[in-house]
Amino acid sequence: MRAAADDGRDPRLVLFDVDGTLLSAGRAARDSILAALAAVLGWEGSADGNDFSGKTDPQILRELVLESVGAERFESALSAVLDRYVEELRGRLRPEAVVPKPGIPGLLERLAAEPRVALGLLTGNIERGARMKLEPPGFNRYFSFGAFGDDSPDRYCLPPIALERAREATGYEFSPGGVVIVGDSVHDVLCGRSLGARAIAVATGPTSFEKLAAERPSAIFSDFSDVESAMEAILR
Ligand SMILES: [Mg+2]
Repeated sequence: MRAAADDGRDPRLVLFDVDGTLLSAGRAARDSILAALAAVLGWEGSADGNDFSGKTDPQILRELVLESVGAERFESALSAVLDRYVEELRGRLRPEAVVPKPGIPGLLERLAAEPRVALGLLTGNIERGARMKLEPPGFNRYFSFGAFGDDSPDRYCLPPIALERAREATGYEFSPGGVVIVGDSVHDVLCGRSLGARAIAVATGPTSFEKLAAERPSAIFSDFSDVESAMEAILR
């Protein structure tokens, strides 16, 4: 973000979710989570029927294994499981399987060119995982900061952290009213509301348009292929 508000309007902080919003990384992350749990904790269960959408990586791991391994063993193994997850993901994530969602490359390009816009990430991915997924389409260059699953297992604790990181990165104190959260899950929308920010929902992930609309986001899109309309909604 360059010098604030040269057109008299307030700077905007736009925070993007990763999976289902910026891109799809296929099954690699899910498979890597299972492989890490098997390697570190000997857990051989299945994740079928679990909805990972909008959850942080530590929360996903905890929900999968808590019952069988217990809280104490889980907490003491968590950092080893996450390290193993990153290792597994590095081996499993094929660059060609990482697919940007419609309109996203153009939308990021346009937002990055806006002088009064700062871009950040707000994602349940741990940072090492998020950076790996964003690498193939070249999206890391748009996001110098963010709040991640390793900052807190509770997604609802992440927005204030993202605001603090934005302040460190830009020197500007964003008020919640100047923040826009963009995501594909119900939790992204509710997360935005918990902060007092505007939430823009996009139905390019596993959650249906109708289900997202029921949470009354500030705006909702089937996808961002109409970049002009997306820009207008974000900068409104
Ligand atoms: Mg998502």
